[in-house]
Amino acid sequence: MILNHARTPLVWTDLPDRLPGHGEIRVQVLACGVCRTDLHVVDGELPHPNSPIVPGHEVIGRIDAVGSGVDGLAVGDRVGIPWLGHTCGVCRFCRSGRENLCDAPLFTGYTRDGGFATSTIADARFAFPLGETGDAVDLAPLLCAGLIGWRALKLAGEGKHLGLYGFGAAAHILTQVARWQGREVYAFTRPGDHTAQAFARSLGAIWAGGSDEAPPVALDAAIIFATVGDLVPCALRAIDKGGRVVCAGIHMSDIPAFPYDVLWEERQLVSVANLTRQDGLEFLKLAAQIGIVTTVTRYRLDQANQALADLRAGRFEGAAVLVP
Ligand SMILES: [Zn+2]
Ligand SMILES: [Zn+2]
Repeated sequence: MILNHARTPLVWTDLPDRLPGHGEIRVQVLACGVCRTDLHVVDGELPHPNSPIVPGHEVIGRIDAVGSGVDGLAVGDRVGIPWLGHTCGVCRFCRSGRENLCDAPLFTGYTRDGGFATSTIADARFAFPLGETGDAVDLAPLLCAGLIGWRALKLAGEGKHLGLYGFGAAAHILTQVARWQGREVYAFTRPGDHTAQAFARSLGAIWAGGSDEAPPVALDAAIIFATVGDLVPCALRAIDKGGRVVCAGIHMSDIPAFPYDVLWEERQLVSVANLTRQDGLEFLKLAAQIGIVTTVTRYRLDQANQALADLRAGRFEGAAVLVP
């Protein structure tokens, strides 16, 4: 399913199978999650896209061809292919353990072809070996909603009272992680979205309400997954002195002006960008240990446009996954 031009539907296209080059693997896609970032790519909201491009960066697949110079992966192995598709390895960010901020990265489904396909090619060094435990469809949302959610959770610090703004794929996974860590989760949804609030409570949120409501306690930290800049001052007002607000999305509408006392008393506002491979290894190990259960809505590959439309409209709880 190819995006030929921003703001046009994806088009089912038959392409010849490519062979993996040096350092690459080819995988038969078993499942690919649909992420909010895919909507930003399709809507032309991110700079410097490659087009045409195959979107999709929550890929679970099985290797069916291995290029030269690949270590540790073989035909038949099941792997996950995440958003971070390649880094330069030499810039000051790569050399200081911050490859998520690489100066010359490639991103799966954005600047290199992704997983809305029957087959895709990845840089082998950025694929995660998955083993055979767990269904591919259930695992797919872990590859971005889970991984980048994990990075956002680490950035939020270790406070007990954690707010999550926007209760989609990432929040439904992170609630399980935070509960396992012994934290209390306060879930904020669109005002009046009682279905999402009930879903949040069913996963262990101690409180769920509209984003316009104040939580019953001052929060230690809040993570904003929704793409709405208006939520930033809301979240800053909901956190305690010394608390931190983490913006976890790649794109957000403009943040409105707010009085300085909303930020004062050492409150912090930060963003999270991309992931490192270390984040992925940590999180996938933890997810297996916790036994995270994802809520997924399945779509056939040729229903990718429908899946994107349903994500945009908030027509399902949890995550959408394409199954070729
Ligand atoms: Zn780099
Ligand atoms: Zn994503």
